[in-house]
Amino acid sequence: YLRDPALATAAVITVANFKGGVSKTTTAAVLAQGLSLRGHKVLVVDCDPQGSLTTLFGVLPASEVEEEDTIMPLCTGEAESIMPSIQKTYWDGIDLVAAAPLLFSAEFMLPLKQVKDRSFAFWRVLDNGLDEARDEYDVIIIDTPPSLSYITINALMAANGVVMPLPPSSLDFASSAQFWNLFTETCNSLFDRNPDNKKFHFIDVVLSRVDRGDVASAAVREWIMSAYGPKVLPIEIPKTSIAASASATFGTVYDIDPASVQAKTLKRAHDAYEDLINFIEPQIEGFWAD
Ligand code: ADP
Ligand code: MG
Repeated sequence: YLRDPALATAAVITVANFKGGVSKTTTAAVLAQGLSLRGHKVLVVDCDPQGSLTTLFGVLPASEVEEEDTIMPLCTGEAESIMPSIQKTYWDGIDLVAAAPLLFSAEFMLPLKQVKDRSFAFWRVLDNGLDEARDEYDVIIIDTPPSLSYITINALMAANGVVMPLPPSSLDFASSAQFWNLFTETCNSLFDRNPDNKKFHFIDVVLSRVDRGDVASAAVREWIMSAYGPKVLPIEIPKTSIAASASATFGTVYDIDPASVQAKTLKRAHDAYEDLINFIEPQIEGFWAD
């Protein structure tokens, strides 16, 4: 069902993993588009200074993004709400808070501001800044940089649900296990300090970029199951050229014409992402119902 604005606020979903190239940005973009196609009003917040999600939504980080279009005013304490930073995208029903390389300096600004003002909770600026947007949107999707930076901590603190894309290869698994430990430790200690902030509803691990021909990945998948168990969704996003070529033309599998020559590959990738959304949407509804 759709959100009842009188009863529930937007569900905030943060897509995170320490590692780069695991499909975070692609997952954030398809989640946004898939949920939008199901009738939800979506805000995407790009927190990665590289601005890949911004690019996917048709805005060029290097030339078209100003500080006021990003989360930067929240990080410097100049603004208390994200609302003035929101812009429309080519996709009707998805709005964007952009990112650009200028966001790199947020890593200095956040703790610096707290040195000057002890009451400034630099790990909560995004959580607080999203308050007004929570009434305006049904779902807010946050894409994060490939590190446990202050920005990533802010994105995790704002989340009602976390999605961790994880390709079943041993290197990805090693760094993701590290991410997981630091993530739970960080959240536990932050939540200890803010006991009323226990608002996590779900954590999903998504096997991404799965290469069917890769024999080694079967063993890694066993490790992943033993480490994350029920948190692993029973789906696999295949590694397909169509996902890669879509992003090369600044889109996702939802942007490709179903009548194109790659229609068969497209269908496999498209169906896998729809399966993912079939698992995430009820969890969003579960958050609203609470
Ligand atoms: P991250 O945000 O974690 O760095 P991206 O979503 O940017 O990862 O993906 C990294 C690269 O892998 C991009 O070039 C993207 O197009 C490609 N990619 C993402 N998902 C898939 C997939 N399922 N199959 C093949 N390539 C993919
Ligand atoms: Mg990315």
